[in-house]
Amino acid sequence: MAERADTLDLRSDFGLLIDGALESSTPQLYVVNPALGRVFARCPAATREQLDRAVHAARSAFLGWRKTTYAERAALIRQAMEKMKSHREELAELLTREQGKPLSQSLAEIDRGAGQSNGLVGIEIAPEVLVDTPEQHIELVYRPLGVVGIITPWNAPINLALGPLVSALYTGNTVVLKPSPYTPLATLKLGELLRELFPAGVVNVLAGGDELGAWMTEHEDIDKISFTGSVATGKKVLASAAGTLKRVTLELGGNDPAIILDDVDPQAIAKKVFFACFVNSGQVCMAIKRIYAHERIYDALCEALVAEAKRAKVGNGLDPDVEIGPLQNKMQYDKVVEIIEDTKRRGARILVGGEVPSGPGYFIPPTLVTDIDESSRLVREEQFGPIVPIMKFSDVDDAIRRANDTRYGLSGSVWTNDLERGAAIARQLEVGTAWVNQHRATSAFVPFGGAKESGLGRQYSVLGLKGYMEPEVISIAK
Ligand code: NAD
Repeated sequence: MAERADTLDLRSDFGLLIDGALESSTPQLYVVNPALGRVFARCPAATREQLDRAVHAARSAFLGWRKTTYAERAALIRQAMEKMKSHREELAELLTREQGKPLSQSLAEIDRGAGQSNGLVGIEIAPEVLVDTPEQHIELVYRPLGVVGIITPWNAPINLALGPLVSALYTGNTVVLKPSPYTPLATLKLGELLRELFPAGVVNVLAGGDELGAWMTEHEDIDKISFTGSVATGKKVLASAAGTLKRVTLELGGNDPAIILDDVDPQAIAKKVFFACFVNSGQVCMAIKRIYAHERIYDALCEALVAEAKRAKVGNGLDPDVEIGPLQNKMQYDKVVEIIEDTKRRGARILVGGEVPSGPGYFIPPTLVTDIDESSRLVREEQFGPIVPIMKFSDVDDAIRRANDTRYGLSGSVWTNDLERGAAIARQLEVGTAWVNQHRATSAFVPFGGAKESGLGRQYSVLGLKGYMEPEVISIAK
């Protein structure tokens, strides 16, 4: 999203998907390529009237769609994933241009989304028999909610659309999907690809600004909002959804700790830990955002991570050698630059990085920090950028206490050769997912979501799918 561009040679082959047809609109979004720091494309921004028509189309389509079987819906979704994969290169290139992440990570995002979607549609939602006696039969069944509004952020537009989209469709709901105004393009192309597969109105895709999201959350004819984004906006979504008692799933921000014990070989884990910190330039909800390292391995770990940071090539994601692309937008770039300045001002030691090149493009090199005052912004806030503090501990209970000292609770990890001890520490982390010797491992069969202010509800797995359904008791007297 950006100020109007003067150039007329912007790519503009994008349409809103409403009731099975592609539409334009007078208001436009101007999309910046963050590696160049300039507008390269524009697309329509939906009006309120277009939202109303999309919701109406979704409501009408729901009547037929809800009657289809799980198997029929699964077959269509599998076909949709095949179609998406057959366009994966062009979709990935567009994703890199609008989002900034290296092409390999765009391809991985598409493949991961397809894999998880195919996994989701293999999950069975069976009725649960609660009582079966000669006198009565009581069972709990799950039925679709109706129209689901999906609102996504700019860091992983395809993957974060597919999880809720496929969950909603597979469980018999129809959808209005809204990507972030910073990264609307790949999602609109996805809508175009799905257009001919699904009956008109089952999937609607509308680009638009924040106001479109707000209209969706207050809309009387949307039954559920699946929101992925920041904690601050998540709170607004919840407050607005209260007006119509919409169901909500909120996947919000994180400040994920990694606790690294004294029995690991820092060299052996450095690559994995580095990647979990700096993938997508740290703009990942579940990226490692704080490292607590035992004093015995602290220096060696710092050294190994610094070596990784020096090795990683920063640049335009379309260059195949690049591992770290730009920050996605100017606002986020400015925020991370401010955090770097605050970190320096407060006397922390920058081990590597920390110098921000002058443009063009929103580039910040991978930055590692030690000797930091733990009340600093870098430790307290979700930095969502390529800068990570490494903090020392000697007593593991103290590390757990510091790791939990936050209102965030998305995920965390423990690194050790003693798996039982690792699991015991993981159980004490106040998070939705605690990993041992890995970070950012997700699957269609495993619920994902946040504790504390990192979210409400779960995506994926039976638990996640049931979030798109209303439980209903069927009670029969014999
Ligand atoms: P954001 O909250 O600014 O925006 C997310 C979406 O909400 C956008 O589509 C935006 O247009 C829309 N929106 C803005 N105001 C709205 C309103 N009042 N009502 C309804 N919708 C509104 O978030 P962002 O900056 O795009 O994304 C980054 C954040 O997302 C980070 O905090 C990150 O941790 C989080 N995130 C969480 C997960 C997860 O699974 N938990 C995954 C990815 C990102």
